[in-house]
Amino acid sequence: MNRRQRRTRRLEATPGAQVRAFADAYRCPDCTADTELINPSPSVYVLNVRHDTTCPAYGAMCATPDHRRTTP
Ligand SMILES: [Zn+2]
Repeated sequence: MNRRQRRTRRLEATPGAQVRAFADAYRCPDCTADTELINPSPSVYVLNVRHDTTCPAYGAMCATPDHRRTTP
């Protein structure tokens, strides 16, 4: 079993592990955003991303109407 297989097995074994792995790996492409993963109930996860005030990706999200927003 190689490293990738062990990692995949570990992620599949723990509920929410894939979500935590995504949150840990998330990086804004344009700034050094801080992230915080919240787990308010057993199957609900919220990833708060706090972009720098000068972040162009965040500026673009704010300039786009709500129904067209995407996470960078
Ligand atoms: Zn950003």
